[in-house]
Amino acid sequence: MPLGPIAYGPFHAEFHFKRVDAAFKNALVQFLTVQLLPQMEEPYFDSGGSLVACFDESRFCGPLSAVRDRYRLEFHFRREDGTDEIKVDIEFDEPRGTFRPVGGNPLYLLTRKRLEHRRYVVGTIEALCRQLETGQAKTGTCPICGLEVCTESSPGSFSVRCKADCFDYEFSREVDTKGVRRGHFYVREEGREIGQGLTSDFLSD
Ligand SMILES: [Zn+2]
Repeated sequence: MPLGPIAYGPFHAEFHFKRVDAAFKNALVQFLTVQLLPQMEEPYFDSGGSLVACFDESRFCGPLSAVRDRYRLEFHFRREDGTDEIKVDIEFDEPRGTFRPVGGNPLYLLTRKRLEHRRYVVGTIEALCRQLETGQAKTGTCPICGLEVCTESSPGSFSVRCKADCFDYEFSREVDTKGVRRGHFYVREEGREIGQGLTSDFLSD
């Protein structure tokens, strides 16, 4: 099934009006076909997206600009019972006439199966950390790689880490006036770090 329509712009800088021509649009379709389509795990009936410039003012688009060809891509696949979406910054490589991800990591579509797997892994790690912290468990193994985890406990904080760096959980033992504990919880998923400061926001991505 071919990719659905992509809305380009609106653009403001003169540079982008000239840049976004038929060859540019073909290059984007090629890029998405190679990078995204193989990641779709379930049938979809519709797809589409948009592309806007990250720096869309003429003062950012001079001949030596490193950011004038950086774009924000949003793309979605609609399934019968849900949508798989990606929002990511990509770059147009003018000499090659091709796109590439910003930062070098391949595009990663957070599909339903991946999201379910992430929830399962994160929930398992969180439950293990709580058991270790409350003393219900003395030791544990990382659900991702199977190595024994390291715990560190002090009067002020508690941390659990995987020796292979699959996750890092570290929280203050104190709860602030809003009922929130300061700390962080990161999980590495296919080379990317997911997570943020507070566990309650963890899955919002
Ligand atoms: Zn591990």
